[in-house]
Amino acid sequence: MLNNIVYFDNAATTRMDERVLEAMLPYLGTSYGNASAKYSIGFEARKAVNTAREQTAAFIGASPDEIYFTSGATESNNTALRLINGGLITSSAEHPSVLNTAYALKSKGRKTCLTDPDDKGRVTASAVSEAFKNSGAGNEKAGLLSVMTVNNELGTINPVKELAAIAHEKGWLFHTDAVQVLGHLNINVKKSGTDLLSASAHKLYGPKGTGFLYIRRGLNPKGFMQGGSQERGLRPGTENVAGIVGLGAACETAMAEMQETSVREKQIGEYIKKYILENIPDTVQNGDGERILNFSFKGVNGTSLVLRLDIEGICVSTGSACSLGTEEVSHVLRAIKLDNVWAQGSLRISIGKYNTMSEAEILTAKIRDLTEELRSLTV
Ligand code: PMP
Repeated sequence: MLNNIVYFDNAATTRMDERVLEAMLPYLGTSYGNASAKYSIGFEARKAVNTAREQTAAFIGASPDEIYFTSGATESNNTALRLINGGLITSSAEHPSVLNTAYALKSKGRKTCLTDPDDKGRVTASAVSEAFKNSGAGNEKAGLLSVMTVNNELGTINPVKELAAIAHEKGWLFHTDAVQVLGHLNINVKKSGTDLLSASAHKLYGPKGTGFLYIRRGLNPKGFMQGGSQERGLRPGTENVAGIVGLGAACETAMAEMQETSVREKQIGEYIKKYILENIPDTVQNGDGERILNFSFKGVNGTSLVLRLDIEGICVSTGSACSLGTEEVSHVLRAIKLDNVWAQGSLRISIGKYNTMSEAEILTAKIRDLTEELRSLTV
Protein backbone atom coordinates (compact mmCIF):
# COMPACT_ATOMS: atom_id res chain seq x y z
CA MET A 1 0.00 0.00 0.00
CA LEU A 2 1.64 3.26 -1.14
CA ASN A 3 0.20 6.64 0.00
CA ASN A 4 -2.71 4.71 1.52
CA ILE A 5 -3.93 3.70 -1.92
CA VAL A 6 -5.14 0.17 -2.52
CA TYR A 7 -4.37 -0.20 -6.22
CA PHE A 8 -6.19 -2.96 -8.10
CA ASP A 9 -6.11 -1.48 -11.61
CA ASN A 10 -2.88 -3.05 -12.85
CA ALA A 11 -4.38 -3.76 -16.28
CA ALA A 12 -4.69 0.03 -16.77
CA THR A 13 -1.14 0.76 -15.71
CA THR A 14 1.35 -0.27 -13.04
CA ARG A 15 3.40 1.53 -10.44
CA MET A 16 6.94 1.90 -11.71
CA ASP A 17 9.45 -0.42 -10.05
CA GLU A 18 12.05 1.63 -8.10
CA ARG A 19 14.86 -0.32 -9.80
CA VAL A 20 13.48 0.62 -13.22
CA LEU A 21 13.34 4.28 -12.23
CA GLU A 22 16.90 4.12 -10.93
CA ALA A 23 18.13 2.58 -14.19
CA MET A 24 16.43 5.37 -16.16
CA LEU A 25 17.59 8.36 -14.11
CA PRO A 26 21.09 8.84 -15.62
CA TYR A 27 19.53 9.08 -19.10
CA LEU A 28 17.18 11.84 -17.94
CA GLY A 29 20.15 13.70 -16.46
CA THR A 30 23.86 13.61 -17.16
CA SER A 31 23.84 10.92 -19.88
CA TYR A 32 21.77 12.98 -22.27
CA GLY A 33 23.59 12.14 -25.51
CA ASN A 34 21.83 11.35 -28.78
CA ALA A 35 22.30 7.63 -29.42
CA SER A 36 23.45 8.41 -32.98
CA ALA A 37 26.14 10.89 -31.94
CA LYS A 38 29.81 10.07 -32.43
CA TYR A 39 31.23 11.04 -29.05
CA SER A 40 31.32 9.51 -25.59
CA ILE A 41 27.89 10.45 -24.22
CA GLY A 42 26.37 9.41 -27.57
CA PHE A 43 28.17 6.05 -27.41
CA GLU A 44 26.94 5.64 -23.83
CA ALA A 45 23.34 6.15 -24.97
CA ARG A 46 23.80 3.73 -27.88
CA LYS A 47 25.23 1.12 -25.54
CA ALA A 48 22.26 1.52 -23.18
CA VAL A 49 19.78 1.12 -26.05
CA ASN A 50 21.62 -2.00 -27.23
CA THR A 51 21.52 -3.50 -23.73
CA ALA A 52 17.78 -2.80 -23.46
CA ARG A 53 17.25 -4.47 -26.84
CA GLU A 54 19.03 -7.59 -25.56
CA GLN A 55 17.02 -7.60 -22.30
CA THR A 56 13.73 -7.17 -24.19
CA ALA A 57 14.56 -9.88 -26.73
CA ALA A 58 15.62 -12.37 -24.03
CA PHE A 59 12.32 -11.81 -22.23
CA ILE A 60 10.25 -13.12 -25.17
CA GLY A 61 12.73 -15.61 -26.63
CA ALA A 62 13.60 -13.41 -29.63
CA SER A 63 16.85 -12.07 -31.11
CA PRO A 64 17.79 -8.43 -30.45
CA ASP A 65 17.53 -7.58 -34.17
CA GLU A 66 13.85 -8.61 -34.08
CA ILE A 67 12.95 -5.90 -31.51
CA TYR A 68 11.78 -2.44 -32.65
CA PHE A 69 11.20 0.17 -29.95
CA THR A 70 8.02 2.22 -30.23
CA SER A 71 5.96 4.62 -28.10
CA GLY A 72 3.82 1.75 -26.81
CA ALA A 73 1.42 -0.97 -27.80
CA THR A 74 -0.96 1.41 -29.59
CA GLU A 75 1.78 2.32 -32.04
CA SER A 76 3.02 -1.29 -32.24
CA ASN A 77 -0.49 -2.53 -33.08
CA ASN A 78 -1.01 0.20 -35.69
CA THR A 79 2.34 -0.68 -37.27
CA ALA A 80 1.80 -4.45 -37.18
CA LEU A 81 -1.58 -4.38 -38.91
CA ARG A 82 -0.34 -2.01 -41.63
CA LEU A 83 2.87 -3.92 -42.19
CA ILE A 84 1.38 -7.06 -43.65
CA ASN A 85 -0.57 -6.93 -46.90
CA GLY A 86 -3.49 -9.17 -47.87
CA GLY A 87 -6.48 -10.17 -45.76
CA LEU A 88 -6.95 -9.29 -42.11
CA ILE A 89 -8.75 -11.41 -39.55
CA THR A 90 -9.05 -10.23 -35.98
CA SER A 91 -11.61 -10.41 -33.16
CA SER A 92 -14.33 -8.08 -31.93
CA ALA A 93 -12.86 -8.27 -28.41
CA GLU A 94 -9.49 -6.68 -29.30
CA HIS A 95 -8.17 -3.45 -27.83
CA PRO A 96 -9.31 -0.31 -29.73
CA SER A 97 -5.77 0.14 -31.12
CA VAL A 98 -6.31 -3.07 -33.12
CA LEU A 99 -10.04 -2.73 -33.73
CA ASN A 100 -9.97 0.88 -34.95
CA THR A 101 -6.92 0.18 -37.13
CA ALA A 102 -8.84 -2.75 -38.65
CA TYR A 103 -11.84 -0.46 -39.35
CA ALA A 104 -9.54 2.16 -40.92
CA LEU A 105 -7.88 -0.45 -43.16
CA LYS A 106 -11.27 -1.89 -44.11
CA SER A 107 -12.51 1.53 -45.18
CA LYS A 108 -9.47 1.72 -47.48
CA GLY A 109 -10.47 -1.54 -49.18
CA ARG A 110 -8.55 -4.16 -47.17
CA LYS A 111 -10.51 -7.41 -46.88
CA THR A 112 -11.20 -7.63 -43.17
CA CYS A 113 -13.12 -10.02 -40.93
CA LEU A 114 -13.94 -9.60 -37.23
CA THR A 115 -14.68 -12.89 -35.54
CA ASP A 116 -16.65 -12.98 -32.28
CA PRO A 117 -15.27 -14.55 -29.11
CA ASP A 118 -17.22 -17.20 -27.18
CA ASP A 119 -19.22 -16.33 -24.06
CA LYS A 120 -16.03 -16.26 -21.93
CA GLY A 121 -14.37 -13.83 -24.34
CA ARG A 122 -12.12 -16.51 -25.83
CA VAL A 123 -11.24 -16.45 -29.53
CA THR A 124 -11.37 -20.16 -30.30
CA ALA A 125 -9.59 -22.14 -32.98
CA SER A 126 -12.95 -23.19 -34.44
CA ALA A 127 -14.15 -19.56 -34.75
CA VAL A 128 -10.91 -18.60 -36.50
CA SER A 129 -11.07 -21.64 -38.82
CA GLU A 130 -14.64 -20.63 -39.66
CA ALA A 131 -13.47 -17.08 -40.47
CA PHE A 132 -10.82 -18.50 -42.82
CA LYS A 133 -13.40 -20.69 -44.52
CA ASN A 134 -16.33 -18.37 -44.83
CA SER A 135 -15.17 -14.78 -45.01
CA GLY A 136 -13.94 -12.78 -47.99
CA ALA A 137 -10.81 -11.93 -46.03
CA GLY A 138 -10.10 -15.59 -45.29
CA ASN A 139 -10.00 -16.39 -48.99
CA GLU A 140 -7.00 -14.12 -49.54
CA LYS A 141 -3.78 -16.01 -50.29
CA ALA A 142 -1.83 -14.04 -47.69
CA GLY A 143 -2.66 -11.87 -44.74
CA LEU A 144 -2.52 -11.33 -41.02
CA LEU A 145 -4.40 -12.97 -38.17
CA SER A 146 -4.26 -10.72 -35.08
CA VAL A 147 -5.56 -11.99 -31.74
CA MET A 148 -4.55 -10.70 -28.29
CA THR A 149 -2.96 -13.16 -25.85
CA VAL A 150 -4.94 -12.03 -22.78
CA ASN A 151 -8.07 -9.92 -22.98
CA ASN A 152 -7.55 -6.66 -21.08
CA GLU A 153 -11.12 -6.43 -19.78
CA LEU A 154 -11.85 -10.06 -18.93
CA GLY A 155 -8.45 -11.65 -18.39
CA THR A 156 -9.43 -14.55 -20.63
CA ILE A 157 -6.43 -16.29 -22.22
CA ASN A 158 -6.53 -17.08 -25.94
CA PRO A 159 -4.98 -20.24 -27.45
CA VAL A 160 -2.37 -18.29 -29.42
CA LYS A 161 -0.19 -21.26 -30.34
CA GLU A 162 -3.15 -23.02 -31.95
CA LEU A 163 -4.27 -19.81 -33.68
CA ALA A 164 -0.77 -19.16 -35.05
CA ALA A 165 -0.72 -22.70 -36.47
CA ILE A 166 -4.04 -22.12 -38.27
CA ALA A 167 -2.73 -18.86 -39.77
CA HIS A 168 0.49 -20.52 -40.94
CA GLU A 169 -1.39 -23.42 -42.50
CA LYS A 170 -3.13 -20.85 -44.71
CA GLY A 171 0.15 -19.11 -45.52
CA TRP A 172 -0.76 -16.14 -43.30
CA LEU A 173 1.19 -14.47 -40.50
CA PHE A 174 0.20 -14.25 -36.84
CA HIS A 175 0.30 -11.15 -34.64
CA THR A 176 -0.58 -10.94 -30.97
CA ASP A 177 -1.11 -7.99 -28.66
CA ALA A 178 0.71 -9.34 -25.60
CA VAL A 179 0.28 -6.28 -23.36
CA GLN A 180 -1.65 -8.08 -20.62
CA VAL A 181 0.34 -11.28 -20.47
CA LEU A 182 3.94 -10.12 -20.25
CA GLY A 183 5.31 -10.41 -16.74
CA HIS A 184 2.60 -12.88 -15.75
CA LEU A 185 3.04 -15.94 -17.98
CA ASN A 186 6.10 -17.16 -19.85
CA ILE A 187 6.12 -16.00 -23.45
CA ASN A 188 8.35 -17.45 -26.12
CA VAL A 189 7.63 -16.20 -29.63
CA LYS A 190 9.52 -19.06 -31.28
CA LYS A 191 7.65 -21.76 -29.35
CA SER A 192 4.24 -20.16 -29.93
CA GLY A 193 4.88 -19.47 -33.63
CA THR A 194 4.28 -15.73 -33.24
CA ASP A 195 5.45 -13.58 -36.15
CA LEU A 196 4.66 -10.17 -34.62
CA LEU A 197 4.05 -9.16 -31.00
CA SER A 198 3.14 -5.82 -29.39
CA ALA A 199 3.82 -4.62 -25.83
CA SER A 200 3.89 -1.57 -23.56
CA ALA A 201 6.40 -0.96 -20.75
CA HIS A 202 3.95 0.70 -18.34
CA LYS A 203 1.95 -2.52 -17.85
CA LEU A 204 5.18 -4.13 -16.73
CA TYR A 205 6.26 -1.71 -13.96
CA GLY A 206 8.11 0.39 -16.53
CA PRO A 207 7.57 3.90 -17.93
CA LYS A 208 4.58 5.12 -19.95
CA GLY A 209 5.09 6.06 -23.60
CA THR A 210 7.51 3.21 -24.37
CA GLY A 211 6.95 -0.18 -25.89
CA PHE A 212 8.12 -2.47 -28.63
CA LEU A 213 7.11 -4.47 -31.63
CA TYR A 214 8.71 -7.86 -32.23
CA ILE A 215 8.95 -8.69 -35.92
CA ARG A 216 10.25 -12.11 -36.88
CA ARG A 217 13.49 -11.96 -38.84
CA GLY A 218 13.02 -12.25 -42.59
CA LEU A 219 9.82 -10.23 -42.85
CA ASN A 220 11.71 -7.12 -44.08
CA PRO A 221 9.30 -4.66 -42.53
CA LYS A 222 8.54 -1.11 -43.65
CA GLY A 223 7.17 1.39 -41.16
CA PHE A 224 4.51 3.99 -41.87
CA MET A 225 6.58 7.02 -40.83
CA GLN A 226 9.25 8.66 -42.96
CA GLY A 227 12.39 10.00 -41.31
CA GLY A 228 15.87 9.00 -40.24
CA SER A 229 17.37 5.56 -39.93
CA GLN A 230 16.59 4.90 -36.25
CA GLU A 231 15.16 1.44 -35.52
CA ARG A 232 16.40 0.44 -38.98
CA GLY A 233 14.08 2.99 -40.57
CA LEU A 234 10.94 1.28 -39.25
CA ARG A 235 10.48 3.80 -36.47
CA PRO A 236 12.43 6.96 -37.25
CA GLY A 237 12.96 9.68 -34.66
CA THR A 238 15.57 10.22 -31.93
CA GLU A 239 15.38 7.29 -29.52
CA ASN A 240 13.63 7.76 -26.17
CA VAL A 241 16.77 6.49 -24.45
CA ALA A 242 15.51 6.75 -20.84
CA GLY A 243 12.20 5.07 -21.76
CA ILE A 244 13.95 2.30 -23.66
CA VAL A 245 16.37 1.70 -20.75
CA GLY A 246 13.31 1.53 -18.46
CA LEU A 247 11.64 -1.01 -20.72
CA GLY A 248 14.78 -3.17 -20.77
CA ALA A 249 15.10 -3.03 -16.99
CA ALA A 250 11.40 -3.87 -16.60
CA CYS A 251 11.81 -6.93 -18.84
CA GLU A 252 14.89 -8.12 -16.96
CA THR A 253 13.21 -7.67 -13.57
CA ALA A 254 10.05 -9.45 -14.71
CA MET A 255 12.07 -12.34 -16.10
CA ALA A 256 13.86 -12.83 -12.79
CA GLU A 257 10.80 -12.50 -10.54
CA MET A 258 7.80 -13.57 -12.61
CA GLN A 259 7.71 -17.14 -11.36
CA GLU A 260 7.31 -15.98 -7.77
CA THR A 261 5.07 -12.94 -8.31
CA SER A 262 2.61 -14.79 -10.54
CA VAL A 263 2.02 -17.46 -7.86
CA ARG A 264 1.12 -14.73 -5.35
CA GLU A 265 -1.09 -12.94 -7.88
CA LYS A 266 -2.93 -16.18 -8.54
CA GLN A 267 -3.57 -16.79 -4.83
CA ILE A 268 -4.91 -13.26 -4.38
CA GLY A 269 -7.10 -13.69 -7.48
CA GLU A 270 -8.53 -16.96 -6.13
CA TYR A 271 -9.34 -15.33 -2.80
CA ILE A 272 -11.10 -12.33 -4.41
CA LYS A 273 -13.09 -14.51 -6.77
CA LYS A 274 -14.23 -16.92 -4.07
CA TYR A 275 -15.13 -14.15 -1.62
CA ILE A 276 -17.13 -12.12 -4.12
CA LEU A 277 -19.04 -14.99 -5.67
CA GLU A 278 -19.83 -16.56 -2.27
CA ASN A 279 -20.68 -13.44 -0.29
CA ILE A 280 -22.38 -11.07 -2.73
CA PRO A 281 -25.69 -12.28 -4.16
CA ASP A 282 -26.68 -11.73 -7.80
CA THR A 283 -23.07 -11.60 -8.95
CA VAL A 284 -21.41 -13.23 -11.96
CA GLN A 285 -17.88 -13.36 -13.28
CA ASN A 286 -17.55 -12.21 -16.89
CA GLY A 287 -14.89 -14.22 -18.70
CA ASP A 288 -12.65 -16.60 -16.78
CA GLY A 289 -9.63 -14.51 -15.92
CA GLU A 290 -7.48 -15.27 -12.89
CA ARG A 291 -5.42 -12.10 -12.54
CA ILE A 292 -7.78 -9.78 -14.35
CA LEU A 293 -11.22 -10.41 -12.85
CA ASN A 294 -14.39 -8.91 -14.26
CA PHE A 295 -17.61 -9.14 -12.21
CA SER A 296 -21.14 -7.90 -12.74
CA PHE A 297 -23.31 -6.96 -9.77
CA LYS A 298 -26.94 -6.94 -10.78
CA GLY A 299 -28.75 -3.73 -9.89
CA VAL A 300 -25.52 -1.84 -9.16
CA ASN A 301 -24.18 0.93 -11.36
CA GLY A 302 -20.52 0.11 -12.12
CA THR A 303 -19.44 3.77 -12.34
CA SER A 304 -21.07 4.57 -8.97
CA LEU A 305 -19.26 1.63 -7.41
CA VAL A 306 -15.89 2.73 -8.83
CA LEU A 307 -16.41 6.30 -7.55
CA ARG A 308 -17.45 5.12 -4.09
CA LEU A 309 -14.41 2.81 -3.90
CA ASP A 310 -12.21 5.75 -4.88
CA ILE A 311 -13.49 7.68 -1.86
CA GLU A 312 -12.25 4.73 0.22
CA GLY A 313 -8.82 4.95 -1.47
CA ILE A 314 -9.36 1.90 -3.67
CA CYS A 315 -8.63 1.98 -7.43
CA VAL A 316 -10.49 -0.38 -9.77
CA SER A 317 -12.26 0.15 -13.09
CA THR A 318 -15.54 -0.56 -14.79
CA GLY A 319 -16.53 -2.05 -18.11
CA SER A 320 -19.09 0.63 -18.75
CA ALA A 321 -18.52 4.36 -18.95
CA CYS A 322 -20.99 7.09 -18.29
CA SER A 323 -21.50 9.39 -21.25
CA LEU A 324 -24.13 12.12 -21.11
CA GLY A 325 -26.06 10.34 -18.41
CA THR A 326 -26.28 7.05 -20.26
CA GLU A 327 -24.14 4.02 -19.64
CA GLU A 328 -22.00 3.07 -22.59
CA VAL A 329 -21.26 -0.64 -22.37
CA SER A 330 -17.76 -1.73 -23.41
CA HIS A 331 -17.33 -3.39 -26.79
CA VAL A 332 -15.89 -6.47 -25.05
CA LEU A 333 -18.98 -7.01 -22.87
CA ARG A 334 -21.07 -6.52 -26.02
CA ALA A 335 -18.88 -9.04 -27.86
CA ILE A 336 -19.65 -11.71 -25.22
CA LYS A 337 -23.32 -10.72 -25.53
CA LEU A 338 -23.71 -9.87 -21.88
CA ASP A 339 -27.19 -8.61 -21.12
CA ASN A 340 -27.31 -4.83 -20.49
CA VAL A 341 -28.79 -5.36 -17.02
CA TRP A 342 -25.57 -7.12 -16.04
CA ALA A 343 -23.19 -5.07 -18.17
CA GLN A 344 -24.13 -1.80 -16.41
CA GLY A 345 -22.89 -3.24 -13.14
CA SER A 346 -19.49 -4.45 -14.24
CA LEU A 347 -16.26 -4.00 -12.33
CA ARG A 348 -12.70 -4.95 -13.31
CA ILE A 349 -10.18 -5.87 -10.62
CA SER A 350 -6.65 -6.41 -11.91
CA ILE A 351 -3.95 -7.77 -9.65
CA GLY A 352 -0.26 -6.89 -9.78
CA LYS A 353 2.97 -7.78 -8.02
CA TYR A 354 2.63 -5.16 -5.30
CA ASN A 355 -0.78 -6.37 -4.11
CA THR A 356 -1.07 -8.21 -0.80
CA MET A 357 -3.66 -10.54 0.68
CA SER A 358 -4.60 -7.95 3.29
CA GLU A 359 -5.36 -5.47 0.49
CA ALA A 360 -7.58 -8.12 -1.11
CA GLU A 361 -9.45 -8.43 2.20
CA ILE A 362 -9.98 -4.66 2.40
CA LEU A 363 -11.13 -4.56 -1.24
CA THR A 364 -13.62 -7.40 -1.04
CA ALA A 365 -15.19 -6.25 2.27
CA LYS A 366 -15.69 -2.76 0.82
CA ILE A 367 -17.24 -4.14 -2.35
CA ARG A 368 -19.62 -6.26 -0.25
CA ASP A 369 -20.70 -3.24 1.84
CA LEU A 370 -20.99 -0.83 -1.08
CA THR A 371 -22.94 -3.16 -3.37
CA GLU A 372 -25.41 -3.69 -0.52
CA GLU A 373 -25.69 0.05 0.06
CA LEU A 374 -26.03 0.96 -3.63
CA ARG A 375 -28.66 -1.73 -4.13
CA SER A 376 -30.66 -0.43 -1.17
CA LEU A 377 -30.73 3.00 -2.81
CA THR A 378 -32.16 1.67 -6.07
CA VAL A 379 -35.91 2.17 -6.28
N1 PMP B 1 -3.50 -3.43 -25.93
C1 PMP B 1 -3.99 -3.77 -24.75
C2 PMP B 1 -4.52 -5.16 -24.54
C3 PMP B 1 -4.05 -2.84 -23.70
O1 PMP B 1 -4.56 -3.20 -22.51
C4 PMP B 1 -3.53 -1.54 -23.93
C5 PMP B 1 -3.58 -0.49 -22.83
N2 PMP B 1 -4.86 -0.31 -22.29
C6 PMP B 1 -3.01 -1.24 -25.19
C7 PMP B 1 -3.00 -2.22 -26.17
C8 PMP B 1 -2.45 0.10 -25.51
O2 PMP B 1 -1.30 0.39 -24.79
P1 PMP B 1 -0.74 1.86 -24.74
O3 PMP B 1 -1.84 2.73 -24.25
O4 PMP B 1 0.41 1.80 -23.80
O5 PMP B 1 -0.34 2.24 -26.12
